Amino acid sequence: MNTPTTTPAAFQTDVVVVGLGAFGSAALWRLAARGVRVTGVERFGVGHALGSSHGATRLFRVACYEHPALAPLALRSLALWTELGERTGEVLVRQTGCLNTGSPTSAPVAGTLAAAEVAGVPVKTLNAEEVRQTYPGYAWLDDDDLGVLDPWAGICYPERNVRAHVAEARRLGAEVFEHTTVTAVETTDDGVLVRTPTATIAARQVVVATGAWLGTLVPDLPLDPRRMPMFFFRAHPGHEQDYALDAFPAFTRALPDGTEVWGHGSAEDYGIKLGLLPDGENFAPTQAETLDRFVHASDSAELSAAVARAFPGVDPTPEKATPCMVNNTPDEQFVIGRPHGTERVVVAGGDSAHGFKHAAGVGELVAQLVVGEDPFLDTGFVDPRRFATA
Ligand SMILES: Cc1cc2nc3c(=O)[nH]c(=O)nc-3n(C[C@H](O)[C@H](O)[C@H](O)COP(=O)(O)OP(=O)(O)OC[C@H]3O[C@@H](n4cnc5c(N)ncnc54)[C@H](O)[C@@H]3O)c2cc1C
Repeated sequence: MNTPTTTPAAFQTDVVVVGLGAFGSAALWRLAARGVRVTGVERFGVGHALGSSHGATRLFRVACYEHPALAPLALRSLALWTELGERTGEVLVRQTGCLNTGSPTSAPVAGTLAAAEVAGVPVKTLNAEEVRQTYPGYAWLDDDDLGVLDPWAGICYPERNVRAHVAEARRLGAEVFEHTTVTAVETTDDGVLVRTPTATIAARQVVVATGAWLGTLVPDLPLDPRRMPMFFFRAHPGHEQDYALDAFPAFTRALPDGTEVWGHGSAEDYGIKLGLLPDGENFAPTQAETLDRFVHASDSAELSAAVARAFPGVDPTPEKATPCMVNNTPDEQFVIGRPHGTERVVVAGGDSAHGFKHAAGVGELVAQLVVGEDPFLDTGFVDPRRFATA
């Protein structure tokens, strides 16, 4: 953040949301839903493909093994997206279930079971033969592996959901400036000044949700932006049905060598989506501004090798790829809250590659923090101040 200057504000509002990707668009919507006078500023067009929230789909897992507090966040997103989708006639979450497979001690199996127990998700455990019978795409599953089906999970849709958030916020009275880059956020005695090349906006508070660019406007957060292209594949001829979304739902899978693969089957206008966790070469440090936006053959080499070992009916050469970014934190949980010394500033970022499914819940949390409501969950594990106190 910068030292205040004396340029007068051209525009006055109560809250500015900077960045209308996953987290920012949801915050805009949830603030507007509370009757807050809120203005969103986005450097590109709403639902664009240049940040972290594009590429048709995202896994929507509920029994998230990354942290026990994440299931309530996903469930709040599910409730909000279901309500919004029913109002607009759009499908914002498709509940295919998520099949988590691997050895009994692997993260997809043991971690999902532990998270499900904490959150009360009614998961179903299958042995290897049951998985192979029900899901032919898993013909090569190891005999000792298990499957844990999270029935509330599925997939969600980044561009569609971001656009739905912003459309709903606009309907509720939010003002939105697209193709406008915020160049500085300055705190003053009674609020904030949000600078753009053409105007300065004065507000009581600002939400900064600029994804992989977050460190540019809010320095001193331990953020680590990474390049992470995503890939779609096609089935070998004759195997199309085995890898269609209904037969090959959202999944995470630990292979015997420890490699973790995630993805889902093909549907509508997209192919079989597959990715690696961790992503090795395909997960290099970057700066958002200078991201290498070309996807190279080497980016998918490890993934293709894993696909060839895991799924007999999938052609291991990707048919489509798109560049993307994530912004990691040291403990791989988000940063949502007020950094030290910034009473007027709320940040929502540090997505650590698993944020989209939680976007509507994060928007709700941010709105609660801004208006001073009790948050619907304990925000300690995402509070940006946790790093300073550690
Ligand atoms: C390959 C890949 C696979 C993934 N898979 C999953 C998954 O299966 N499930 C899941 O839950 N998550 C997944 N994720 C993570 C998820 O996509 C991210 O957590 C989420 O999109 C992050 O949203 P964000 O709001 O932080 O960033 P973004 O959506 O990028 O939003 C930031 C916005 O800020 C804008 N902005 C930046 N600077 C400025 C400025 N100065 N002024 C104005 N606007 C600005 C940007 O243009 C952008 O629109 C995946 C990510 C990748 C890359």
